[in-house]
Amino acid sequence: MRVLTGIQPSGDLHIGNYFGSIKQMVEAQSQNQTFMFIANYHAMTSVSDGSRLSELTMQCATDFLALGIDPQKSVFWVQSDVKEVLELYWTLSSFTPMGLLERAHSYKDKTAKGIAANHSLFSYPVLMAADILLFNSDVVPVGKDQIQHVEIARDIAIKFNNQYGDILTVPEFRVQEEVATVPGIDGQKMSKSYKNVVNIFGEEKSQLKTIKKIVTENVAMEEPKEYETCNVYNMAKLFLEGENLKALQDRYKQGGEGHGHFKIYLAEVMWEYFKEFRERREYFEAHQDEVRDILNMGALKAKEAALPTIEKIRSATGIRY
Ligand code: ATP
Ligand code: MG
Repeated sequence: MRVLTGIQPSGDLHIGNYFGSIKQMVEAQSQNQTFMFIANYHAMTSVSDGSRLSELTMQCATDFLALGIDPQKSVFWVQSDVKEVLELYWTLSSFTPMGLLERAHSYKDKTAKGIAANHSLFSYPVLMAADILLFNSDVVPVGKDQIQHVEIARDIAIKFNNQYGDILTVPEFRVQEEVATVPGIDGQKMSKSYKNVVNIFGEEKSQLKTIKKIVTENVAMEEPKEYETCNVYNMAKLFLEGENLKALQDRYKQGGEGHGHFKIYLAEVMWEYFKEFRERREYFEAHQDEVRDILNMGALKAKEAALPTIEKIRSATGIRY
């Protein structure tokens, strides 16, 4: 089974990215063919400073390797290194009804937040469909926010196949329910573009500072507190299991502690959780040439995987003449 996922190098990776997607991908590596790419064309919808985008791309690659993407097991590349994806994007555009894109939540949410409504933001799901379909992906693990985009990819693939025969694999999405949406520090979905994130690889002090800003209910110190609805708890539970999780729930129920205590605890468990990853990150940070070699090798493998499909499409659509 082929599992594919991409991530935009549009800012520092956050714990929503990790629990919503990266972790699942790392775990999938041993049993599946995993395809993992850095979506730098997608990031152009939000990053317009060229040197920043190229920096973020390398940073994202470094982070991924640190978090456990193994280039021997996974095909790991940068989106723009396989240009065929743009060809497929255009081809699929003819199979994408305007209404389908107009209904996309992500576009509606982003424009509602004041992000400029340009064409790339609007047609983003078509490029995402091309990302998925170019590599005949069977499964796309996503956070809840991206389910609709995979459904759009399915719709487009079905329409295309109806016209030209069974060329594209119709993909399925996979959501890990318990981490469907990680809240940001303001309680909305954690998103790079919403500036409400807790970074994976921040400095210890600045992470604590960010965590201290998490919005919480105003309840007196001695009172018992509800944990299910607490943003601090909902982040902390990602890092805890069994007894430790139960102990935290008990601390909420007992009262006597303020949210400040829970925040400090969250910062501690998170710092501990990512320790090993931080060490690996330091290694790759110091070996950027190795990171580049890995990306180049990944691009070759990705291209090889894409070519049979794109060749079939060129023939079927008559672009090959
Ligand atoms: P942007 O604000 O630029 O859209 P983002 O933070 O939403 O960035 P993406 O690059 O869009 O991150 O998403 C990468 C992956 O992380 C996707 O699979 C997405 O579903 C997942 N993801 C993003 N945010 C969350 C979240 N808050 N909870 C769970 N999964 C998430
Ligand atoms: Mg997003």
